Order: sequence, then structure tokens, then C-alpha cells
Amino acid sequence: MGASGHCLCGKVTYELSGEPIATAVCHCSHCQRQSGGAFSVNVIALPDQLTVTGELGTYVETGENDDGEYVHRRFCPSCGSPIVSEMLQAGIVAVKAGTLDDTSHIRPAVEVWCTDRQPWVELAGIPMSMEREG
Ligand SMILES: [Zn+2]
Ligand SMILES: [Zn+2]
Repeated sequence: MGASGHCLCGKVTYELSGEPIATAVCHCSHCQRQSGGAFSVNVIALPDQLTVTGELGTYVETGENDDGEYVHRRFCPSCGSPIVSEMLQAGIVAVKAGTLDDTSHIRPAVEVWCTDRQPWVELAGIPMSMEREG
């Protein structure tokens, strides 16, 4: 299918080609803090599928475990919108679904990091949930 998106100010745009691997809701405390919301919605894809135009800032985040896993959380330096998290060890990227130009097709298939879920959050129609990351 393919999709496009942009940050709040429009200085960063991107194209996502082909079929994504999955759409996932992440309840982890880091996504809550970065987004300022209760969870993040992520379109999971391979790095090759994503083409970003414009400059991204990068926050290098060390994982909560000690095995050296880390995530590059990338954002628009002008408006601060989170655009994509690059999971380098896993070889996947998580595009922040709220930045898509058309979100009407978004149907999350899985919830992860449910241990950190805020108690009032009840999401209907998501087939799979995991206590921690997939
Ligand atoms: Zn921006
Ligand atoms: Zn998360």
C-alpha cells in the first residue's frame, strides 16, 4: 500500500513503502513520557521501507535491561514531534502512527508493555497483548 506522513510543523515528511509488518500500541513508560500521552501507536516496518525528508533529531535511549539494547528516538527538532523509533538490534523501525497523513486504516494488532499501562486505558478490538515488548 504505502503511506506518507509529516510532523506538526511540516519540516519533516516521510514516505512508508510496501506493507508494514504490524501496528502496535506501546504502553511503556518511555513512550508515555516521550509522547506526553498514555501510550504510543506505532507502525512497525523495516528500515528500508521508510524514507524521511528533512532533518531529524535523535535521542539515544538505553534499554531498561542491561544487555545493551537501545533505541534511537527520532523527532523533528523544530516542533518536537516524535516521528520514528529505530530498534537497532531488532532491525525494525516504529513509525509514530499519529504523524501519518491518513490514519483511517490504522488498526493495532498488538499491545506491548502492558505492565506499564495506565489503569484507566481500555482499548477495544486489539487481538493480542503482551506484558512486555514483543
Ligand atoms: Zn516539525
Ligand atoms: Zn514504548
